[in-house]
Amino acid sequence: MIKKFGLPPTMFYLNDSNNPNTYATSRISNQNFPDGTVLIGFSLIQQECLHSPSGTCSSFPIVMAHEFAHIADFKYGTGLTGKHKELFGDYLAGCFMYFREVEFKSTFVQEAAISFFQKGNHSFNGPVHYGIPQQRYT
Ligand SMILES: [Zn+2]
Repeated sequence: MIKKFGLPPTMFYLNDSNNPNTYATSRISNQNFPDGTVLIGFSLIQQECLHSPSGTCSSFPIVMAHEFAHIADFKYGTGLTGKHKELFGDYLAGCFMYFREVEFKSTFVQEAAISFFQKGNHSFNGPVHYGIPQQRYT
């Protein structure tokens, strides 16, 4: 993923309790990896793998690609905000999914798409609107 995105963020595991999540921040935690930081929740990994009919946890690397897209956004400054910023992350994650499938032939695309569908919401006025389920799926 670092090769595909050309970005080496610092990565940490996160005790996300029972609130599955991953985060990307522009904060530099290690000067050797100056493109920001990605935090990977233990329970998110568990959830993605528990809901993996193929048993491959195919959605997890795509979720990580979404976070790498945020790192790219921090570095190159798209200027996007709100749901557009989130859907940009999904778009690059979809690009990564394509390359992953071409190279490894082991990505269950539908499984990853359903995971993103389930992470959509309709809280248009909430603190973070990620896009509606169909937008995230697409
Ligand atoms: Zn995001």
